Amino acid sequence: MNIILMGPPGAGKGTQARHLVETRGMVQLSTGDMLREAKDSGTEMGRVVAGVMARGELVTDEIVIGLIREKIEAGQGDGFIFDGFPRTLAQADALTELLEATGQALDAVIEMEVDDEALVARITARSTCGACGEVYNDATKPQPADGKCSNCGASDFKRRADDNEGSLRTRLMEYYKKTSPLIGYYYAKGDLAKVDGLADIETVQASIAEVLGD
Ligand code: ADP
Repeated sequence: MNIILMGPPGAGKGTQARHLVETRGMVQLSTGDMLREAKDSGTEMGRVVAGVMARGELVTDEIVIGLIREKIEAGQGDGFIFDGFPRTLAQADALTELLEATGQALDAVIEMEVDDEALVARITARSTCGACGEVYNDATKPQPADGKCSNCGASDFKRRADDNEGSLRTRLMEYYKKTSPLIGYYYAKGDLAKVDGLADIETVQASIAEVLGD
């Protein structure tokens, strides 16, 4: 089963994707994570990508599609969760072609609905474990008092360079301008399901499980 998680920055796509990986053995393909890895790799591509991401703009379709192509062609696990991809119509078309070429289908597009005020609050309070990626939130799930990740025990918490109000405003504009039109596109294709992304994490997990037919 292959699915897309769609929604603005901070909607909770990464948190839900991690749960699906743990419970269903799916493979999370987060273009944001892949680009952050490229950024840290010290390559020329990494340098270009770093500035674009810090400003909250979109990286070129060519780079992002190249990253995704490699993963789809390598094909592993019990299906893919596309997290943060596609973000443009060109990326959506490329995904359709890549799946077709490898004899796979897209089973569902899940839109996580949230409001912008909640997003700003969530994102400016967000940190993650640098070792395992566990997500923390200063208000709802603070970093453990002993300074060790509750999931893996590491003490290397990170905040993203683009999790500040200025970049977030650009990320939201990019989302509404270039990505949200894809919701209409997938609706028209009959693939779209909506879940309330403002509900608590377990409720969102249950809503997604229902969409996936559990
Ligand atoms: P968010 O929490 O904003 O959804 P991501 O971790 O998915 O963040 O992405 C962070 C940044 O990486 C984006 O603001 C953008 O610069 C870049 N990026 C990620 N995925 C894509 C994509 N599919 N196309 C273009 N740029 C992307």
